[in-house]
Amino acid sequence: MTRPLGAFASLDAGLGLQLDLVGELGVPTIHLHAPHQGGRSDESIAGYQAKLRDHNLKVSVLFAGFDGESYESIPIVKQSVGLAPKETRDERVVEFKEIADFAHKLSAPDISYTGKIIPVGMHLGFIEEDPNHPEFSALVEVTQELCDYCAQNNQAIHLETGQESADGLVTFLEAVNRPNLFVNFDPANMILYGSGDPMLALRKLGPYLQSVHCKDAIGSDQPGITWGKETPLGEGEVDFNEMLLILDELLYHGPLTIEREIPEDPERQKSEIQQAMNLLKSVTR
Ligand code: MG
Repeated sequence: MTRPLGAFASLDAGLGLQLDLVGELGVPTIHLHAPHQGGRSDESIAGYQAKLRDHNLKVSVLFAGFDGESYESIPIVKQSVGLAPKETRDERVVEFKEIADFAHKLSAPDISYTGKIIPVGMHLGFIEEDPNHPEFSALVEVTQELCDYCAQNNQAIHLETGQESADGLVTFLEAVNRPNLFVNFDPANMILYGSGDPMLALRKLGPYLQSVHCKDAIGSDQPGITWGKETPLGEGEVDFNEMLLILDELLYHGPLTIEREIPEDPERQKSEIQQAMNLLKSVTR
């Protein structure tokens, strides 16, 4: 099954490779990190669309990110990432809706990979795995609110995997119970956070799968306490041959979006994404 390749890209600061460098790679699709608040005005949309058309890039997911998020260590992720931290939840809900509307406005038929409204991806942060914990219910309610908001835009939400076990995430998805809530599967995150075997997780999350990150990592000797280490694709513990076989079984036809974060060295980042593209082409049947 041939699936288009993709890369994680950004329009301004934030995660992902700058758009001009992605354009040089010749990938047809991208996951796009949302621009900062000041870069999301209605007037900015036409300029972004022109830039994407110049590079022949179609957006398959727009990823929300928030000021103050830090991936410095697992405890700091718990305190700072997504909607899990209570202190910033309300303001981030407002900002998420602004980002969803930005994705909606960006979604010209020749800009959106599916031709439909571009979905919003996000890290929710650490989800409590005990459904009886009050924070579990609080996060379910806020996710329902975001799903219902996006539904008015005919838009889906893709939750990034990794910070919780696949079973914990399935319990959460079932509790939220919204038809426009899906999963962006990132095998390396499962390894980095020590949250379980990524291939078992992929099978469990299959019914919710709508997008994937191709990223690799080696696990920590203290799983769940300290980070594992992200590696170039093919040098970590993810078996991409097996991953593609499972994606075949799941009838996943969407893009294989390469994520490689080396913000301090964009040229190296670009070259490792190129190598990852070659690896994925070699294992694609
Ligand atoms: Mg990812």
